[in-house]
Amino acid sequence: MVIKKDCKHKVEQEKRIVADMIALYCRKKHNSSELCPECKALTEYAFRRSELCPYKEEKTFCSQCKTHCYSSQMREQIRKVMRFSGPRMLFYHPIAALRHLYYSKIRS
Ligand SMILES: [Zn+2]
Repeated sequence: MVIKKDCKHKVEQEKRIVADMIALYCRKKHNSSELCPECKALTEYAFRRSELCPYKEEKTFCSQCKTHCYSSQMREQIRKVMRFSGPRMLFYHPIAALRHLYYSKIRS
Protein backbone atom coordinates (compact mmCIF):
# COMPACT_ATOMS: atom_id res chain seq x y z
CA MET A 1 0.00 0.00 0.00
CA VAL A 2 1.38 3.38 -0.98
CA ILE A 3 0.57 6.26 1.28
CA LYS A 4 3.10 8.66 -0.05
CA LYS A 5 0.79 11.37 -1.20
CA ASP A 6 -0.64 12.19 2.17
CA CYS A 7 2.44 11.66 4.29
CA LYS A 8 2.64 15.35 5.02
CA HIS A 9 -0.86 15.21 6.32
CA LYS A 10 0.02 12.22 8.46
CA VAL A 11 2.89 14.02 10.09
CA GLU A 12 0.66 16.99 10.81
CA GLN A 13 -2.01 14.76 12.24
CA GLU A 14 0.48 12.92 14.37
CA LYS A 15 1.85 16.18 15.71
CA ARG A 16 -1.59 17.47 16.55
CA ILE A 17 -2.50 14.33 18.43
CA VAL A 18 0.73 14.28 20.37
CA ALA A 19 0.38 17.95 21.28
CA ASP A 20 -3.17 17.40 22.50
CA MET A 21 -2.15 14.41 24.56
CA ILE A 22 0.68 16.23 26.25
CA ALA A 23 -1.52 19.25 26.93
CA LEU A 24 -4.15 17.07 28.55
CA TYR A 25 -1.56 15.23 30.61
CA CYS A 26 0.01 18.46 31.80
CA ARG A 27 -3.33 20.00 32.72
CA LYS A 28 -4.37 17.01 34.81
CA LYS A 29 -1.08 15.82 36.21
CA HIS A 30 0.86 19.01 36.65
CA ASN A 31 -2.11 21.21 37.39
CA SER A 32 -0.98 23.92 35.05
CA SER A 33 -3.20 25.84 32.69
CA GLU A 34 -0.37 26.27 30.23
CA LEU A 35 2.25 23.73 29.33
CA CYS A 36 4.94 23.50 31.98
CA PRO A 37 8.53 23.70 30.73
CA GLU A 38 9.01 19.96 30.94
CA CYS A 39 5.93 19.19 28.85
CA LYS A 40 6.77 21.95 26.43
CA ALA A 41 10.17 20.40 25.85
CA LEU A 42 8.57 17.02 25.31
CA THR A 43 6.17 18.47 22.75
CA GLU A 44 8.97 20.10 20.83
CA TYR A 45 10.97 16.93 20.95
CA ALA A 46 8.07 14.89 19.60
CA PHE A 47 7.47 17.39 16.80
CA ARG A 48 11.09 17.27 15.78
CA ARG A 49 11.11 13.51 15.74
CA SER A 50 8.04 13.42 13.52
CA GLU A 51 9.53 15.87 11.09
CA LEU A 52 12.94 14.29 10.94
CA CYS A 53 11.81 10.72 10.72
CA PRO A 54 13.57 9.15 7.73
CA TYR A 55 10.69 6.76 7.21
CA LYS A 56 7.85 9.21 7.24
CA GLU A 57 7.18 8.74 3.55
CA GLU A 58 6.64 5.02 3.84
CA LYS A 59 5.36 4.38 7.28
CA THR A 60 1.99 5.05 8.76
CA PHE A 61 3.01 6.25 12.18
CA CYS A 62 6.03 6.14 14.44
CA SER A 63 4.47 3.02 15.78
CA GLN A 64 5.53 0.98 12.81
CA CYS A 65 8.95 2.50 12.68
CA LYS A 66 12.05 0.41 12.39
CA THR A 67 14.22 2.89 14.20
CA HIS A 68 13.59 3.89 17.74
CA CYS A 69 14.32 7.52 17.33
CA TYR A 70 13.16 8.61 20.74
CA SER A 71 15.87 8.69 23.35
CA SER A 72 15.12 6.34 26.21
CA GLN A 73 14.36 9.17 28.60
CA MET A 74 11.98 10.92 26.22
CA ARG A 75 10.40 7.63 25.30
CA GLU A 76 9.65 6.94 28.94
CA GLN A 77 8.05 10.35 29.26
CA ILE A 78 5.97 10.07 26.13
CA ARG A 79 4.85 6.65 27.27
CA LYS A 80 3.55 8.05 30.51
CA VAL A 81 1.67 10.68 28.57
CA MET A 82 0.22 8.11 26.18
CA ARG A 83 -0.84 5.82 28.95
CA PHE A 84 -2.66 8.61 30.69
CA SER A 85 -4.07 10.55 27.77
CA GLY A 86 -4.51 7.79 25.21
CA PRO A 87 -7.79 6.39 26.50
CA ARG A 88 -9.15 9.89 27.09
CA MET A 89 -8.24 11.09 23.63
CA LEU A 90 -10.48 8.52 22.02
CA PHE A 91 -13.27 11.01 22.38
CA TYR A 92 -11.50 13.67 20.40
CA HIS A 93 -9.64 11.90 17.66
CA PRO A 94 -10.41 9.28 15.08
CA ILE A 95 -9.88 5.97 16.78
CA ALA A 96 -7.86 4.37 14.02
CA ALA A 97 -5.34 7.18 13.89
CA LEU A 98 -4.96 7.25 17.59
CA ARG A 99 -4.67 3.54 18.07
CA HIS A 100 -1.65 3.41 15.80
CA LEU A 101 0.12 6.09 17.70
CA TYR A 102 -0.84 4.94 21.13
CA TYR A 103 0.04 1.30 20.89
CA SER A 104 3.19 1.82 18.93
CA LYS A 105 4.69 4.22 21.39
CA ILE A 106 3.82 2.10 24.37
CA ARG A 107 5.15 -1.11 22.95
CA SER A 108 8.30 0.09 21.29
ZN1 LIG B 1 3.55 19.41 32.50
